[in-house]
Amino acid sequence: MKILLEQLAESPERYRFEGSAAWWSARASAGGEAPYVLLRPLGFEVEVRRNGQEILLEGALRGEIEVECSRCLVRYGQVLSDEFRLVLESSGDRLPADPENAEALERDGVCLGDDLEVGSYRGTELDLEAYLAERVALAWPVQPVCRESCGGLCPHCGIDRNQNQCQCGEKRVEGPFAALASLKAEKAEGNS
Ligand SMILES: [Zn+2]
Ligand SMILES: [Zn+2]
Repeated sequence: MKILLEQLAESPERYRFEGSAAWWSARASAGGEAPYVLLRPLGFEVEVRRNGQEILLEGALRGEIEVECSRCLVRYGQVLSDEFRLVLESSGDRLPADPENAEALERDGVCLGDDLEVGSYRGTELDLEAYLAERVALAWPVQPVCRESCGGLCPHCGIDRNQNQCQCGEKRVEGPFAALASLKAEKAEGNS
């Protein structure tokens, strides 16, 4: 996932990188993240151009991942898709004060600000691997839901309400009185 800086011009150059399942699981476990599963390799498309001393990157990532529904805990495939933009300034002779950033600049030729939208570069080559892995982590859904209408698990008996109905007295009431009805149901439960 490397870009040679001497190849860059003011007109954008297009790069394609692929992140395999093995690549991602190595990155994710190194970062102490949950063992995410890719259902197909991640594809990155990045357009890079030079603007004076600045380097501008614009790109997109696409993939398909396996996640666990936060309501019913079923595992399902979800398309992962995101776009990103990064502006890099020449670091010149300066080294970042933060030792981690200084190390990244030395190792990858690039280090990033907290928001991943600006950063700095030095040397002759950019290694975008760490940056792209961070973009994937950012695009990962925080509370995935298998479908909008997923009924989830019953909090009382644990039954999957997409498959079965239980007798826990939580009748689903639609419409404007739904909130009121569920409040009443909670109260009634509290009294019993
Ligand atoms: Zn679900
Ligand atoms: Zn139940």
